[in-house]
Amino acid sequence: MADIIGQNRLKSLIASEASFRHSSSYLLNAPKGMGKHLLANAFAKALMCEAPKEGKACCECKCCKYFDAGTTPDIVRIEAPEDGKNIKVEEIRNRVVADASIKPQFSKLKVFIIDLDCVAEDGQNVLLKSIEEPPENVVFILLSSVTDRVLSTVMSRVMELKIDPYTSDEIYEILKANEVEGTRQELEEVLAYCAGNPGRALSIASDEEFGKLTSDVTDLILSIGDHSYSDILTDDVAFMVSNKDRFALISEIILKTLDSMAMYLKAPDNKTALKASGKIKEFVLSNKRLNTVRIGRCVEAVNSMKKALMVNCNYENNSGVMLLAMHEELRSR
Ligand SMILES: [Zn+2]
Repeated sequence: MADIIGQNRLKSLIASEASFRHSSSYLLNAPKGMGKHLLANAFAKALMCEAPKEGKACCECKCCKYFDAGTTPDIVRIEAPEDGKNIKVEEIRNRVVADASIKPQFSKLKVFIIDLDCVAEDGQNVLLKSIEEPPENVVFILLSSVTDRVLSTVMSRVMELKIDPYTSDEIYEILKANEVEGTRQELEEVLAYCAGNPGRALSIASDEEFGKLTSDVTDLILSIGDHSYSDILTDDVAFMVSNKDRFALISEIILKTLDSMAMYLKAPDNKTALKASGKIKEFVLSNKRLNTVRIGRCVEAVNSMKKALMVNCNYENNSGVMLLAMHEELRSR
C-alpha cells in the first residue's frame, strides 16, 4: 500500500476495513486509469495477510509471499476476456458461485476480484446470490468504471470505496515514478488535461500527437460557428470518428477551451484568463453574441455526450448532436 501514490483517505479506509470489516462485498468505482486494480490488490493482500500491521500487509508471511509471487490459490480474478465480450454466465457460476463455497487453502480468506465492466445483467444476477448470502471466509472486491452498468440490487449490497481525483502533485509524482521525462513546467499541459486521472496522464505523456490534437480540437471549436450543417455532419463528425479512441482527451480539450473562453470573457485582466491562448482571446473579442450562458450550454453538450457514451450510445450520432449544439451557441451571427 505504501507504494501507491496519493489516495490517502481511501488507503486508510481500506486499512481499517482490512482490520475490522463492515462488509463482505466492496465496489471500487472509478473511470479507467484511476488505479482500481492497484488498490484492489493492496486491499486483497492486506485481507489475506497472516500478520497485518495496522491493516497493512506485512509482506513477510507465507500468504504475502504467495501473493507477491502470484501463486496464491485463494485469490480469484475475473477479468475481461481478450475478445472484449462479456463473461459468460456459466463462468460466473463455476468460477465464482461454486468456488466461493470451497474453503480457502492457505489464507484466512478467499478474495474474488471481479471486473464488473464485463459482467452483463444476467451474470450480475447470478453473482447477486453470492453477494447476498456470502459464504464465510469470502470477500468480493468488485471493480467498475461505468456505474450505470451496475445493477441497483448489486449497488445496494456493496460498500462503495470511492477513488478521488489525484492532485497535480500526485500525478506528477506518478509520471516520474513511471520514468516520464520532463520538468514540472514541461509537463504542465499533461497535468492540465488529464482531469486528475493518472492513467490518462501517462497516455497523454506518451502521445506524440498530443500537441497536434490539442491544436486541431481547439481550432475546430473556435471555427464551428462558421461551419455549415452539412460540413459539421460530414467533415467534423468524421474528425471525431477518426479520433474515437481519444474521446476522453478530446472532451477535456474542449472543456478546457470553453473554460478559458469563459474566464477571459468574465475577467480579461485576471491572471488565469491572461494565460488563454491568443486565438481564444481573439475569438472572445470578435464574437459579440458570446456570453457565459452560451458557453455553459456548450459544456452541457459535451457532458451529455460523455454520459451517453457511458451507456454505449452511438458515438457518431452523439458527436453530431454535440457539434451542432456548439455551432448554435458559438456562431457569431
Ligand atoms: Zn503478511
